[in-house]
Amino acid sequence: MKRFGIAIPKEVASEVEKLSQELGVTRSDLIAVAVQEYLESRKNHADPGHQCVGAVLALSDSFSDVGEIIEEHKTSVLAYTHLHVEGKCLTILVVKGSGDAVERLTLELSKKVHVARYVPLM
Ligand SMILES: [Zn+2]
Ligand SMILES: [Zn+2]
Repeated sequence: MKRFGIAIPKEVASEVEKLSQELGVTRSDLIAVAVQEYLESRKNHADPGHQCVGAVLALSDSFSDVGEIIEEHKTSVLAYTHLHVEGKCLTILVVKGSGDAVERLTLELSKKVHVARYVPLM
């Protein structure tokens, strides 16, 4: 075990406090698990040429821009759904492909929409 001090926002600290009490674990254990999971997900996703499976969330004013990009990248898009949140279009894409292809798809979406976020799942 190594001990070091970190600075985190107050809100995050109180969430950690609350969750650690609920789960009956120490704050240190909780943070160690969270960081470990984060590092693990980064490690797999950073591996070049890996087969990537995940979800992209895209928030836009209309579906048309997103629809075009889905059509261009349809070999990487397994499925998608589209719904409305706060007057905006939220498209959720399930994607599978090489890490490169998924990066390109997310990058193209991010140029056309307000928010495009990729969440690696495997
Ligand atoms: Zn990946
Ligand atoms: Zn829409």
